Amino acid sequence: KKRIVSGVQPTGSIHLGNYLGAIKNWISLQNSYDTLFFIVDLHAITLPYDAQQLSKATRDTAAIYLACGVDTSKASVFVQSHVRAHVELMWLLSSATPIGWLNRMIQFKEKSRKAGDENVAVALLTYPVLMASDILLYQSDFVPVGEDQKQHLELTRELAERVNFLYGGRKWKKLGGRGGTIFKVPEPLIPPTGARVMSLTDGLSKMSKSAPSDQSRINLLDSKDIIANKIKRCKTDSFIGLEFDNPERPESNNLLSIYQLMSGKTKEEVAQECENMNWGTFKILLTDALIDHLQPIQVRYEEIMSDSAYLDRVLAEGATKAADIADATLNNVYQAMGFLRR
Ligand code: ATP
Ligand code: MG
Repeated sequence: KKRIVSGVQPTGSIHLGNYLGAIKNWISLQNSYDTLFFIVDLHAITLPYDAQQLSKATRDTAAIYLACGVDTSKASVFVQSHVRAHVELMWLLSSATPIGWLNRMIQFKEKSRKAGDENVAVALLTYPVLMASDILLYQSDFVPVGEDQKQHLELTRELAERVNFLYGGRKWKKLGGRGGTIFKVPEPLIPPTGARVMSLTDGLSKMSKSAPSDQSRINLLDSKDIIANKIKRCKTDSFIGLEFDNPERPESNNLLSIYQLMSGKTKEEVAQECENMNWGTFKILLTDALIDHLQPIQVRYEEIMSDSAYLDRVLAEGATKAADIADATLNNVYQAMGFLRR
């Protein structure tokens, strides 16, 4: 079986973008692939954060994975910091990463600009190296990611090739190792729709956990009233009717796409259904579709959260399975890089 790894940061509440761009797609992938889904808590501390909230957000995120349908009889679910190899490999990879590669990362530029110089941690710059470790440790074949992570995945691929070239093959054999390829070079898996869910208050910027206004996103755990209110107040335009793919109408395209994915209809069906609709009528339709889709997830979430021993067990088993794979890779890297092994 080919392997897939993916994760979400516990930086706030999981929203529709995380769900449609990542978690929802995991559910079908877990049937045909060997899958590992983790909560990337080590990434969550790269911007100023609330230490009181981190462990709660980590558990919440795990419970949401399960509530959305991640099945632990098929997939391993674990917390990134529970598998020490992530941080260890990161150090080794850092030494093989030219700083210019990191300086070019768009997300770093955006997030560091927003945070202001005094708040920009070194880890925000080196974050893609940790992400590369997350992926390469498991010899992943594919990584399902939203558009926003494409550039980081490209860096992961380049880094894998570089390490394979610098330390792999016969060089590694000469050091007494197995020789051959150290890392598998992973491919991105980008979902056709939902790859980029946009903000409710600005159709040109992506829906994001870290955006200051909660009105800009639908969180998976938002109540009916909150959903209704957010959709009522979301940004629209003054055109007549609704349409996909008009560059002058990013909000129309975004909300129709969300409606399409929530209702399970095809793009053509939605285009036809909403062609002559006014915003008021459409908003009611969209609100109902969101509530119908999210409510069962919320019910399951409450069930999972009410049994904390169960969640602990899932995360412990997941970490054990993950560590087995990760430690084998890490050991190879140490050996190939010439370290004296214990
Ligand atoms: P932050 O603002 O803290 O970076 P985020 O909302 O971008 O949070 P991440 O934890 O960085 O969420 O990303 C988790 C997953 O969700 C990634 O696979 C990412 O590609 C995907 N994702 C994030 N935002 C969106 C979005 N608006 N549309 C589609 N996918 C998204
Ligand atoms: Mg992000």
